[in-house]
Amino acid sequence: MSNTLRIEGLSKTYANGVRALQDVSLTIPTGMFGLLGPNGAGKSTLMRTIATLQEADSGSITLGQLDVLRQKDEVRRILGYLPQEFGVYPRISAETMLDHFAVLKGIVNAKERKEVVAALLRRTNLYEKRKQNLGTYSGGMRQRFGIAQALLGNPQLIIVDEPTAGLDPGERVRFHNLLAEIGENVVVILSTHIVEDVSDLCSRMAIIANGQVLMTGDPLQRIQDLHGKIWRRTIDKHELEHYQSAYQVISTRLIGGRTVIHVYSDVQPDSSFGEVPTSLEDVYFSTLNGKVAEEKAA
Ligand code: ADP
Repeated sequence: MSNTLRIEGLSKTYANGVRALQDVSLTIPTGMFGLLGPNGAGKSTLMRTIATLQEADSGSITLGQLDVLRQKDEVRRILGYLPQEFGVYPRISAETMLDHFAVLKGIVNAKERKEVVAALLRRTNLYEKRKQNLGTYSGGMRQRFGIAQALLGNPQLIIVDEPTAGLDPGERVRFHNLLAEIGENVVVILSTHIVEDVSDLCSRMAIIANGQVLMTGDPLQRIQDLHGKIWRRTIDKHELEHYQSAYQVISTRLIGGRTVIHVYSDVQPDSSFGEVPTSLEDVYFSTLNGKVAEEKAA
């Protein structure tokens, strides 16, 4: 089965008038796909719609031959979903809970279920702690448990929504390693506002904001495209306004208490600016600031 996920012309306006998705079209091949955007961009709305949990107003989604918006039961059978808020029952052990999820996933044979549950707990490095109640789990352990339940039943489509938001750096690395082990033959969509999640893991990506796709592509290629166009300079905080009016400042950040700006420019603005080895963060901010889209249109 060719498992490309195709989203075409997807739109959603909430009852309060918020246009969460505006004519979103994306082609998502198998492998790890990063959906990057600021809070409120529409990522969760898109993830929940793909996961058959809410309706769009218009547009279509297909996975191979499946009509995702209509064949909901079929989609649910091949879907693994880790939602943004993954609630767990605190007084139940990981093993018991995962066994329960496995029943819901249709794994009715007890012996098979036992093996599947044990294998997933091993894979997510929770086997030693399987008898422990979920309420005692750290954020990182809970996220790994969330992945364990999402992997039940060998899903062809895996959606993880903001998976590393509350994790400390060590937990994040462990979670990344786990995600990276998921097969290349399934579609994995990683929705996040954290740029490093995408640069570490994803071979394809899209940036969305205000319910619109601003760019799609291969992260490494996009980083290359910006090569020689991003310049940095350390400034005094009170100079920021001046620089913002004189240059295309795409981002500002504090490094060691000093303000460092990144500027988009085809040529070195002046000798006080140094060239930056571009990163996905530069791609992200220049896209959000309209630079990349403008270039494509030109
Ligand atoms: P993200 O996941 O990128 O943070 P969301 O999809 O959660 O974005 O939200 C997109 C926009 O839709 C936001 O402005 C949000 O406030 C709004 N929104 C999300 N869910 C609802 C809802 N159930 N009712 C009304 N507005 C909503």
